[in-house]
Amino acid sequence: MSNENDLMEKIVSLCKRRGFIFPGSEIYGGFANSYTYGPYGVGLKNNIKSLWWKKFVQDRENVVGMDGPIILHPKVWEASGHATNFNDALVDCKNCKKRFRADHLVEDVAGVDLEGNLDEMKKILDEKVKCPACGKRDWTDVRNFNMMFKTKLNSTDGVTEEVAYLRPETAGAIFIEFKNIVDSMRVKVPFGIAQIGKAFRNEIVAGNFIFRLREFEQMEIEYFISPGVDWESVFETWLQAQEEFALELGAQKSKLRRYEHPKEKLSFYSKKTVDIEYEFPFGGFKELFGLANRTDYDLSNHTKHSGQKLEYRDTESGEVYVPHVIEPTFGLDRSMLVSLLAAYTEEDIEGDTRIVMKFPKKLAPVKVAVFPLLKNKPQLVEKARGIYDELRKQFACEFDDNGNVGKRYRRQDEIGTPYCVTIDFDTVGMGEDAALTDTVTIRDRDSMKQERIKVAELANWFVSHLD
Ligand code: ATP
Repeated sequence: MSNENDLMEKIVSLCKRRGFIFPGSEIYGGFANSYTYGPYGVGLKNNIKSLWWKKFVQDRENVVGMDGPIILHPKVWEASGHATNFNDALVDCKNCKKRFRADHLVEDVAGVDLEGNLDEMKKILDEKVKCPACGKRDWTDVRNFNMMFKTKLNSTDGVTEEVAYLRPETAGAIFIEFKNIVDSMRVKVPFGIAQIGKAFRNEIVAGNFIFRLREFEQMEIEYFISPGVDWESVFETWLQAQEEFALELGAQKSKLRRYEHPKEKLSFYSKKTVDIEYEFPFGGFKELFGLANRTDYDLSNHTKHSGQKLEYRDTESGEVYVPHVIEPTFGLDRSMLVSLLAAYTEEDIEGDTRIVMKFPKKLAPVKVAVFPLLKNKPQLVEKARGIYDELRKQFACEFDDNGNVGKRYRRQDEIGTPYCVTIDFDTVGMGEDAALTDTVTIRDRDSMKQERIKVAELANWFVSHLD
């Protein structure tokens, strides 16, 4: 298998070649760190979202979904602390003018995490850190940079403009709907509110393909608990559920680990924060998902800033309290990247390299490809079309009659299609064995084995094999 360092290059190239992910605004020369999810990319992404929604909302009695706005009242971000605290440390190289995350440079070179301590970062940079771009050591001061994207709203007088922000995380929209959800749904603590949606961060240095973007998607849950309960066990259960989800994306267990934030580095409102990290081919273990106990910080602050009481009344005991919250957060784009990296496989087949994306079947963007053996035999094409039209009512299907069957298999392997169905002369009763009339071959992506199945049994066969 390929060297880990080449793996990213191979993934980026396959994603473009095979319609998963394109560089954004390419015909205008590209636009840094923006990407378009192409036809198979959006298929994979939707399948990951559906898997998540099923696991965390549909299969749970006490989790409800919602979908809030991207632009919220600016006071939301004052209450949450983002307006003042959502900063990254920024430093520029005076020589080559390149810009960096000061905390990342210090951590990479000196191995210390100096989050928030700008003076100490500057000291270490001046003493030990050379610019990764030009090799000089000539740094500006380290400054805080707020990562929220500003936008302006029109006012009715057409003159003044009101500043608003694109949400830097989806969670804010959930907290401010706490009261509406409690009042309209029959939820009882403990319960969760889940949301999938875009978030925007003006990252100082984006990069590593879709790992760090300025516009990305999150899948988040706020799980409200009574302040008196054994929150550690709730926390552990969520951590395990997050790890299970990573495995369902295809991640190998050995590439996952937990990183607990040291007590002294925790935000003052957090009792515990653990990142689920994945070993990416660039720079090792990095955050994939996060889990935090945010106490009653958010509900209390929104109460203070909005003047609306965000409380819960226990109908049995009559007790009224502000729930605490456990927050599992998942990055959708990082989930995509993990499933792409984990699926990528090269196999040596009689001296030739077969590239195959071994996605878990439920994530594969196309489930079944249907081929007539030959393009220029109308009986085969017509029969294949009929089978394709039937199957695509139930499954994501593709019809392909280009080139020889070997080439078509290769293309489907590269997009990770679990099964290919070939319609040949036997299928249409023109072969040597009449008993094979109305049967087709199904070829398995991973074993490459073929078996013959009756056309009438195809749909049921796929139902039982694709789950
Ligand atoms: P990092 O330390 O990598 O910047 P973070 O701690 O700021 O991440 P959170 O605020 O916990 O991230 O966001 C929740 C999840 O959203 C992360 O676990 C990650 O999967 C995803 N995420 C965060 N920032 C980005 C980004 N710029 N691009 C893509 N995904 C992101």
